[in-house]
Amino acid sequence: MTELSATFVCAHCLQENEILIDVTEGSKQTLTEDCTICCCPNVLHIFVDEERGDVNVDAQAEE
Ligand SMILES: [Zn+2]
Repeated sequence: MTELSATFVCAHCLQENEILIDVTEGSKQTLTEDCTICCCPNVLHIFVDEERGDVNVDAQAEE
């Protein structure tokens, strides 16, 4: 499996977004994703635990 689904809470509108993480990009990733609800950009710090198939996403508002 190369993609895992994860959710993050938008830093602007506090709604939950679902995203797919490409785990082949590494266990620590930084992505910028637009919220699907308010369209504001969020900077996502992603930590992948491949053994557990677990993804942790920390979202911050982009300045
Ligand atoms: Zn939002």
